[in-house]
Amino acid sequence: MKKISILGSTGSIGTQTLDIVNQYPEQFQVVGLATRSNVDLLATQVQQFRPEIVAIRDENKLGTLKDAIATLDYSPIILAGEEGVIEVARHGDAESVVTGIVGCAGLLPTIAAIEAGKDIALANKETLIAGGPVVLPLVEKHGVKLLPADSEHSAIFQCLQGVPEDGLRRIILTASGGAFRDWRVEKLKYVTVQDALKHPNWSMGQKITVDSATLMNKGLEVIEAHFLFGMDYKNIDIVIHPQSIIHSLIELQDTSVLAQLGWPDMRLPLLYALSWPERIYTDWETLDLVKAGSLTFREPDHDKYPCMQLAYSAGEAGGAMSAVLNAANEQAVALFLEEKIAFLDIPKVIEKTCDDFRDHNPYSPSLEDILEADNWARKTVLVEAEGLGKESKVISVK
Ligand code: NAD
Ligand code: MG
Repeated sequence: MKKISILGSTGSIGTQTLDIVNQYPEQFQVVGLATRSNVDLLATQVQQFRPEIVAIRDENKLGTLKDAIATLDYSPIILAGEEGVIEVARHGDAESVVTGIVGCAGLLPTIAAIEAGKDIALANKETLIAGGPVVLPLVEKHGVKLLPADSEHSAIFQCLQGVPEDGLRRIILTASGGAFRDWRVEKLKYVTVQDALKHPNWSMGQKITVDSATLMNKGLEVIEAHFLFGMDYKNIDIVIHPQSIIHSLIELQDTSVLAQLGWPDMRLPLLYALSWPERIYTDWETLDLVKAGSLTFREPDHDKYPCMQLAYSAGEAGGAMSAVLNAANEQAVALFLEEKIAFLDIPKVIEKTCDDFRDHNPYSPSLEDILEADNWARKTVLVEAEGLGKESKVISVK
């Protein structure tokens, strides 16, 4: 029986993790749950999974949460605010913490979990992208495991089992191509929020769905792969694979290529991040290659999707540049979702923000440097967005 806590329990990653716990109650037990503001769902989860500790980030919802839980026949610890979320991350004898918070908001809770000696089932990629330079030394210092739950990185990690340390030569990340993979580039200026939220293969939170449409998600995953597997950027490639059956591949020194396959279902990488090195039997639908049919591949179009190159450049720049890229992207996506900037403005404001930071990038950033860079990048994007031409802010209907 493994005890786990879940940060972001009401989101796509959080609910899928609880689905696993629900199906395999002999294997997993929930110790802590934390979320931003969805009190109703959180209260239902508390009733069903009976955690020892619960936190809600939005302090205004604390009263409602307490009322909703008051009628239960046991009394969990109930907390609010960022401190509350951090307390859930480090509480009790949970062995593993699933990081399903979206964005750099996950950074401090993840650090708290690592410092408390918890293994991390890492879904919240923004934490590693922004905080890699401080998170990795902490992982080392506290002897915890950072187990990838992102499907591509789980695929790479699964393929790497049994490969000697210096055996890896190249990483090939697969990308579905997102919502606009079959759109002509000229049409992208007419993209609406609704269009961007239609992912062809995966059902996920809004932010990562927009990141998939710009292919920034794949760019962020390149940086995530660099930090997780210590691979140089020049040896991390992206290939478009519209069917999302091959979740990523590794090339070894002798040119052998290994891949991990499966239906697109996030429960598998989540389960492996929790069960590693064991393999737990499931009754999930097994892969049928004939039903899957053709598996096709094509080169990513860097002119159509400039975010990929922005991510490679930020990763190669090192220091706090990937924190700036990530924060600028978070802010730009939020503005797009509020219909304040157009889809094609997303890469523009990110590029300008990264350019402005270049001369201020610390070589070996501290946590404070990273938080400061994150904060600066968000403010800079707001200023940049204000300065965009009026015509560019109007999102026309197709
Ligand atoms: P989501 O929007 O569906 O859920 C986010 C969750 O985080 C919600 O429960 C929300 O309440 C919570 N949250 C947000 N800010 C918080 C804060 N400050 N404190 C506490 N809780 C907070 O997002 P998602 O799709 O589940 O994605 C979560 C993370 O996992 C992201 O980093 C994403 O990139 C990564 N990821 C998701 C998928 C997927 O299939 N959904 C796949 C790979 C990676
Ligand atoms: Mg992924």
